[in-house]
Amino acid sequence: MNSIVAIVGRPNVGKSTLFNRLVQRRDAIVDSVSGVTRDRHYGKSDWNGKQFSVIDTGGYVIGSDDIFEEEIRKQVALAIDEADIIIFVVDVEEGITPMDAEVAKLLHKVKKPIFTVVNKVDNSMRETDALEFYNLGLGDYHTISSMNGSGTGDLLDAITAKMPEPEAINPDEEELPRFAVVGRPNAGKSSFINALIGEERNIVTDIAGTTRDAIDTKYNRFGFDFNLVDTAGIRKKSKVKDDLEFYSVMRAVRTIEYADVIILIVDATRGFEGQDQNIFWLAEKNRKGIVILINKWDLMEKETNTLRDFEAKIRTQIAPFTDVPIIFISTLTKQRIFKAIETAVEVFQNRKNKIPTSKFNETMLELVKTFPPPAIKGKYVKIKYCMQLPTPTPQFVFFCNLPQYVKDPYKRFVENKLREIYNFSGVPITIYFRQK
Ligand code: GDP
Ligand code: GDP
Repeated sequence: MNSIVAIVGRPNVGKSTLFNRLVQRRDAIVDSVSGVTRDRHYGKSDWNGKQFSVIDTGGYVIGSDDIFEEEIRKQVALAIDEADIIIFVVDVEEGITPMDAEVAKLLHKVKKPIFTVVNKVDNSMRETDALEFYNLGLGDYHTISSMNGSGTGDLLDAITAKMPEPEAINPDEEELPRFAVVGRPNAGKSSFINALIGEERNIVTDIAGTTRDAIDTKYNRFGFDFNLVDTAGIRKKSKVKDDLEFYSVMRAVRTIEYADVIILIVDATRGFEGQDQNIFWLAEKNRKGIVILINKWDLMEKETNTLRDFEAKIRTQIAPFTDVPIIFISTLTKQRIFKAIETAVEVFQNRKNKIPTSKFNETMLELVKTFPPPAIKGKYVKIKYCMQLPTPTPQFVFFCNLPQYVKDPYKRFVENKLREIYNFSGVPITIYFRQK
């Protein structure tokens, strides 16, 4: 289970600079295809063989100065609830400010590992200035410079030492597949689960979930056992406003990381919104299977092209990963709810697809020979061999002479072809071009 690390602290101490250093972000902030701004404050990282998620909570604070304090207080509270490890960033140039002292006070009671990080210690002279941060009462601290990177390696060593060892995967003890039902408040998550459970008797309820608040329900359909992970209860417990992007991300992260397939329920009467996009993107980034259910379809005025237009619009919003099932349901009339579950099972199976190397070469090499990457500066890319990697989720590598000349449009072309030939519906895949 990957740990979740939250970065907290007042504005301008260098949280986002540190965040960028920790996640070594490679993905573009604005997706060039869809033009959608992706979430810039959530990323994945690994160090010493441990994978973890990093959330820059400060990145979500927007608003005037007077709401800052209240917002930061809420964010720290939520980070304390939801994260496994907290990094509290302070600024050596400014010294301890009243807001730092406030945050420190909130952190005093917390049982989770807390790392106080004194940032902007760009040179050794500033080490002495950092001493005053002992007065925060949080014990030892780390001095770093997010700008030039000094101290960040030691910090990462210390943080990852607090994380559990990665579990060895034992195929004999494979857990049941986990399908997480997620979505905005009131989208119909509880209704969806109730509609399913109401139909079925072979249910064992309330197996204590690994996710603290979510409830796992063992379920059988089509001779296939799986756990439905109900996140609906999470909202009901929380006191904070769910409309803020930050809360939805923070709360969705853990559920999504622990699931195999994400069943994203969207309220048709509201459309596919920012939070839906965030959840989708989190699922994609974590290589989870995805099914989108457009719920409350019974409430929609239907004209000739309503469904087609609705679906087309969503596909533009989730681009470039558009090979995702979108199903129109009503939990009220039970329209297509079993179709929805059947599709989730299919997506789960697609995600496990393993294409034999010989077959894959036969098909894909033929294709890339017929449609080779465009020559650059008179140089031709020759793809010699390709295979699916032995990773838990589908990833492919194409070996060639000049991988640096293979650009994104060609990668997308290959991905699209691959998706036409093999069934990876609902499954994020990654394609690498490597030197041979
Ligand atoms: P945030 O509001 O906490 O996310 O802070 P930012 O990461 O946006 O940084 C605020 C300012 O501090 C920016 O101008 C950064 O360039 C600067 N900054 C961040 N880290 C360092 C550092 O290690 N040393 C110095 N000198 N400046 C830094
Ligand atoms: P949750 O917060 O996502 O768990 O949403 P709920 O399942 O509690 O549903 C929120 C509201 O939407 C409730 O009043 C439901 O009765 C209503 N609702 C859910 N699904 C449907 C549907 O398919 N059609 C209609 N008309 N109402 C629905």
